[in-house]
Amino acid sequence: MKKIIAANWKMHKIRPEAAKEAAVLAQSLVKGTPDNRLVVVFPPYTDIATVADAFSGVNNLAVGGQNFYPAESGAYTGEISPAMLRDAGATWALTGHSERRHIFAENDDIIAKKTAFGLAQGFKIMLCVGETLKERDDGELKSVLSRQLSTAIAPLSPAERDRLGDKLAIAYEPVWAIGTGKVAEPQEIIDAHAEVRDLLRGLVGDMAKDLPILYGGSVKANNAGAILALDNVDGLLVGGASLEATGFLEIIGA
Ligand code: PEP
Repeated sequence: MKKIIAANWKMHKIRPEAAKEAAVLAQSLVKGTPDNRLVVVFPPYTDIATVADAFSGVNNLAVGGQNFYPAESGAYTGEISPAMLRDAGATWALTGHSERRHIFAENDDIIAKKTAFGLAQGFKIMLCVGETLKERDDGELKSVLSRQLSTAIAPLSPAERDRLGDKLAIAYEPVWAIGTGKVAEPQEIIDAHAEVRDLLRGLVGDMAKDLPILYGGSVKANNAGAILALDNVDGLLVGGASLEATGFLEIIGA
C-alpha cells in the first residue's frame, strides 16, 4: 500500500503563496515522488484551482477540499458543494476534522451525512477521528473511536461499503496532539491504530486491511520517519509542518 502524506493548510495562504508552494512541491516531485507515496494537499477553497493547476500531470499528487456541504446546490449561504470542489480540481475531501468537530460544532450526524454524500459524489474521503485529552484520561479512547467510526460508516449501504476499498482513508488524530507540538507516544499510536483497524474490520470486514489509517498530530520532519514505521500507520496528516515546502518535502521523503 502506498503511504499517503497529506497536508492540511487550514486557513493559511493566499493564492500567490499557494502557487509558490505548490510549484515547489510539483517541481521536486516530478523529478521523483518516491513511488511508494501519494501526496494529497488540502488547501483553502480559494487555492484549490491554483494548486490543482500546479499539480496537473504530476503522478502521485492530488488535491482535496477541507470541507463541503452535503447537497448538490441550494440556498446554503457560505457553503461549498462537492461539485464545486471537483470543478476546482479536488478529488479528495476531509470529513470530521477535529477543528470542524470542536470549533464549528459538527456532530457525528452531520459528519456521517458529509461522508456518505462525498463518497456518493465520487470523492475519496479522509475521515478524521480522535479523542480529546479528557476522553483519553477518562478511559474513553475506544468508545470514542468506535462511535466516530461507526456513526460515519455503518449507515452506508452494503453496496456503498463494498466500494470503499480505494475511496476511504481514516486519519487518527488525537485532539490533544493537533497543533500543540505534543506527539502521541509510539505505543499510543500503535494501540489506537490497531483499535481503528479492528473497528473497521467489524464495519467493513476483510476490506479493513486495505483502508489506509493515517496518523496526525504535530508531525514534523524529525519524527515523521519513526511514526511512519509503526504498525498500521499507512500515512500522515500534517498541519503546521506542511505549510513550508522544504520541510514538507522532508516529511514526504521520510
Ligand atoms: C491537522 O490539522 O490535522 C494537524 C494534524 O495539524 P498539526 O500537524 O499542526 O498538529
